[in-house]
Amino acid sequence: MVALTRDLVRIPTLNPPGRSYREICEFIAGWLEPRGWTVELLRARGAFGDSETWPRWNLVARIEGTGPGDCVHFNSHHDVVEVGHGWTKDPFGGEVANGRVYGRGTCDMKGGLAASMIAAEAFRAACPEFRGAIEISATADEESGGYGGVAWLAERGYFDPARVQHVIIPEPLNKDRICLGHRGVWWAEIETQGRIAHGSMPFLGDCAVRHMGAVLAEMEATLFPLLATKRTAMPVVPEGAKQSTLNINAIHGGEPEQDPDYTGLPAPCVPDRCRITIDRRFLIEEDLAEVKAEVTAMLERVKAVRPEFRYTIRDLFEVQPTMTDEDAPVVRTVQAAIAKVLDRQAEFVVSPGTYDQKHIDRIGRLKNCIAYGPGILDLAHQPDEWVGIDDMADAATVMALTLAELLG
Ligand SMILES: [Zn+2]
Repeated sequence: MVALTRDLVRIPTLNPPGRSYREICEFIAGWLEPRGWTVELLRARGAFGDSETWPRWNLVARIEGTGPGDCVHFNSHHDVVEVGHGWTKDPFGGEVANGRVYGRGTCDMKGGLAASMIAAEAFRAACPEFRGAIEISATADEESGGYGGVAWLAERGYFDPARVQHVIIPEPLNKDRICLGHRGVWWAEIETQGRIAHGSMPFLGDCAVRHMGAVLAEMEATLFPLLATKRTAMPVVPEGAKQSTLNINAIHGGEPEQDPDYTGLPAPCVPDRCRITIDRRFLIEEDLAEVKAEVTAMLERVKAVRPEFRYTIRDLFEVQPTMTDEDAPVVRTVQAAIAKVLDRQAEFVVSPGTYDQKHIDRIGRLKNCIAYGPGILDLAHQPDEWVGIDDMADAATVMALTLAELLG
């Protein structure tokens, strides 16, 4: 399992732009095919991000048991985020030290992918005559929305409940936690509009940045306090994400920013446009239409006291919250396996941000889905990212016992 993780980490599947996707799929195919798996390599032609230069390659592997039964599917994304600064290890070296494997993607989530591959093979070795089928997928672009990966496969029936009955996504949630789902997302751009004029005579124009200032003040006075009162019964971690949240991802007003090598002064103009991008994360108890209506109501309050004020809102992205039932078969089975392997009660959690479960739920219509895998969530996307070897072994044992229970 360590050797497999190191091999996977040495293939630098950076996203963006989507490097080495074909290479990693071929590597995994080369590992699974000689062991009897039927492997498909699928390019998400025409999906967001797919191009001749950066094709979006996915792998789906399947092995049939000897009798009828359920299909258990392990879905891992093979892409990793940029390296960033602050590393003391080679990000693509796969160095082993202190009982850990280091490198970009060890924790998120090539360690989980390796654990699921080893778990499936260990289960088959112990139980060659099993019921149903096992699938392993390695998919593109989770880090950028999953449209060239799980969404594309789900649209083509790969997560149809008639084909697949249980899905485990080995994201790094810690080996004793079962992640049931995630909060919802709404991204939007709010633009305030004014009228351009000479900066020496601002009274002849209408300043869009001052309008945005009024919007931000209203947000502080009424919207943030309102969001702080909304609490969810979902077991979201960390604690701060148990309420509705809103981030302002960006703000821009006035003339476009110049290149860093431009040495001239700005021109004196009253800005006629100002834009912010908001990132609203909402709870399963909230309705998206209501979430949007709160923002519109806030803008209307600003409008009521600023006669010249005009605005537009543009939707950028939305994802509904999802949460698998605690009594779902895959949840109960993994929970029992964790109790056996780790001798402790599994903790149920919900992720503050989204991951590929959204596509399996919404497009695939498959509800019996969780995230469970080794690795410490906080290490994802960090410098000197690592996955613990013992944690991988424990999580793989939990996965193998889950297969034994569902298909053995
Ligand atoms: Zn991930």
